[in-house]
Amino acid sequence: MRPPPSLPCPTHHPDAELLSRHAVGTLADGPALVVATHLDFCPICRQQVRAWEALGGALLNSQRPVALADDALERTLARLEGVHLDGKPLTTDVSAPALDPDPVLPPALRRQRLGPWRFVAPGIRGRAVRVNPAQGYKVMLFRVAAGMAIPMHGHRGQEYTCVVDGAFSDIFGRFGSGDMAAVDASVDHQPLASPDGDCLCLIAVRGRLRIHSLLGRLVQPLVGL
Ligand SMILES: [Zn+2]
Repeated sequence: MRPPPSLPCPTHHPDAELLSRHAVGTLADGPALVVATHLDFCPICRQQVRAWEALGGALLNSQRPVALADDALERTLARLEGVHLDGKPLTTDVSAPALDPDPVLPPALRRQRLGPWRFVAPGIRGRAVRVNPAQGYKVMLFRVAAGMAIPMHGHRGQEYTCVVDGAFSDIFGRFGSGDMAAVDASVDHQPLASPDGDCLCLIAVRGRLRIHSLLGRLVQPLVGL
């Protein structure tokens, strides 16, 4: 599913480093899935990724032949499994069920293995997106009721977010469908879902969150973040 052309392009994009690392397949599954979800909404960044891929191909073609390690093909194929523009799943489990019945989900998410929706807190539900746990990222889809706030929190590592439906606001502005945010350990914020409707967002987090509210700390073990 591509959003219809009448939808505005996202206004918050991944930076050039994220896009280039996505193009060459060096991002961990969690942030790669968040970037892939953004790409489903964003023709501008899709074009940049294609340019990075073309540049990478040109560089490869310009290299002198060198002896390859014995496991070069195996390692390359393993890396390609993490690249999703060709339609392959991000997870290495190729037997994973592919489709989710939720029509709202963009293609990058419909190819993933999703856990069941679970209660997180009043007005907030979450479902796990199964990625390789060895890479240190937890990935969740959250549905936050209109006007609800996610507890104030900081981070011990990077947090990548892409809005799938609806919108939220925080200290960095308003994030609508397809908008992406990347924050590091220096940032404390409290995203607030738009009062106009539920906000569905995909979040990949490395390391546990530092949640400041009592309620947040109480539900943290339930969410696993
Ligand atoms: Zn973009």
